[in-house]
Amino acid sequence: MYMVTIDAEKCVGCNQCASACPAKILAMADGKAEVCGDCAECLGCQTCSISCPVGAVTVMEF
Ligand code: SF4
Ligand code: SF4
Repeated sequence: MYMVTIDAEKCVGCNQCASACPAKILAMADGKAEVCGDCAECLGCQTCSISCPVGAVTVMEF
């Protein structure tokens, strides 16, 4: 299982994470990224955190 968190203070709304997520669990809302889907479907691929230019996405396994 993975926990995906977005730091809204850091997020600049570039959509890179949401467009890159193969599980489609990230989306944009009010100019910020947010987790819109079920974290249980997260693959833990880290594509979102790698693609974020400001380091706003954290993926933790638990
Ligand atoms: S780790 Fe992969 S599957 Fe999980 S939210 Fe990020 S891009 Fe999507
Ligand atoms: S990649 Fe980072 S800055 Fe861009 S929308 Fe996602 S969380 Fe925000």
